[in-house]
Amino acid sequence: GIPPYDTNNIFSRILRGELPCHMVYEDEHSMAFMDLMPQSEGHTLVIPKAPSRNLLDADPTTFMWLMPAVQKIAKAVKRAFHADGIRVVQFNEPGAGQTVFHLHFHVIPVYEGVELKP
Ligand code: 5GP
Repeated sequence: GIPPYDTNNIFSRILRGELPCHMVYEDEHSMAFMDLMPQSEGHTLVIPKAPSRNLLDADPTTFMWLMPAVQKIAKAVKRAFHADGIRVVQFNEPGAGQTVFHLHFHVIPVYEGVELKP
């Protein structure tokens, strides 16, 4: 199994309004904001408002609400930042590189000839 959801994580605190963020989208179930350490210009994070640690413990209905927001943000970010393409990536558990333990999708613009920052 995986550890239980911990409400002290940064995105949970952002959702509660305890920490600031540069929000770019919100609906009843989802929220999107700019990544603090962007891998490229326009790097955005899309999260569900429902508490899930990551993809491994999330309820399927969470994705039903979240993925339309991910698509919306991917399209808007591509247009707004004139990206050549968009990567959508997502990490689960520390072994895979997850550092914030609230489910999130990275929406990362890719630009021809520009390397992504680590
Ligand atoms: P992970 O490796 O867990 O998939 O990615 C976590 C992401 O959250 C990283 O890209 C990191 O830059 C971003 N991040 C960490 N802390 C904050 C924060 O306080 N605000 C925002 N907007 N992004 C954060």
